[in-house]
Amino acid sequence: MSLQPDTQPATQAPEHEPVQVRDDVTVELVRHSAHDADVLFAARVSTAGEASLEELEKDASRSQGLINYLMRDRHGTPFEHNSMTFFVSAPIFVFREFHRHRAGFSYNEESGRYRELQPVFYVPSPERKLVQQGKPGRYEFVDGTPEQHDVVTRSMLASYQGAYDAYQDMLAAGVAREVARAVLPVGLFSSMYATCNARSLMHFLSLRTKDERATVPSFPQREIEMVAERMESLWAGLMPLTHAAFNAHGRVAP
Ligand SMILES: Cc1cc2nc3c(=O)[nH]c(=O)nc-3n(C[C@H](O)[C@H](O)[C@H](O)COP(=O)(O)OP(=O)(O)OC[C@H]3O[C@@H](n4cnc5c(N)ncnc54)[C@H](O)[C@@H]3O)c2cc1C
Repeated sequence: MSLQPDTQPATQAPEHEPVQVRDDVTVELVRHSAHDADVLFAARVSTAGEASLEELEKDASRSQGLINYLMRDRHGTPFEHNSMTFFVSAPIFVFREFHRHRAGFSYNEESGRYRELQPVFYVPSPERKLVQQGKPGRYEFVDGTPEQHDVVTRSMLASYQGAYDAYQDMLAAGVAREVARAVLPVGLFSSMYATCNARSLMHFLSLRTKDERATVPSFPQREIEMVAERMESLWAGLMPLTHAAFNAHGRVAP
């Protein structure tokens, strides 16, 4: 195919929508059935059979001890009898990392084929550390200078606007959304429901948060960590004993 110079008279450029930028993420707990009692109920079937619920009410004071024992000895299955559904809105590059978590997670994400993607893009906040130092697997991130923040913000805005303009031009020309979306970058925001249980969430948190209590340190990208921190705080409110035991035993999923 040869490309010929455009000999057509210039046409009026279509009006383009200015892109919006965000430096944060959204995480909401939209449905849940998750309590510390669910862990105890499931664990006690081992010894109390179908009377495990009654047993639970009788000796509530032992609850924390039992949860700690299950966590310490990595008896993981009692932590699976619960469910949390999160609504997450975050950049696509976060979703690429998130969707690697296969076990105990269910996902549904907004479609770029069935709806027009909205011009909302990620730009790091002034607090986001910009400079990477060290070796692979053990990078340290340090603050960027004001000049570095400035070049990041300007470059991203220009790139996002150009990409979204191209997307709009193709849609205006009648091109299918599923084709036109190819020009949109991974800084574009997407949204999804993610459903998990406490065990799969703990595995996710062990890998996607950096915490000095972790016996096996991880070095996640800050943006997925922002999502993980919000999920952890919502979960901690639902299952405080399980959350405390997770921290007390080195933030290792049982
Ligand atoms: C800091 C960091 C850096 C990363 N860098 C990269 C990278 O450079 N490139 C890259 O490709 N990925 C990278 N990843 C992703 C990583 O390799 C995992 O895909 C991701 O963390 C999900 O972990 P997982 O497989 O344990 O989780 P899940 O998929 O949720 O699995 C949970 C657990 O179930 C078991 N399991 C699940 N599926 C199987 C299976 N098929 N066979 C056997 N056991 C199974 C395992 O015990 C597993 O730990 C990175 C992750 C982190 C946290």
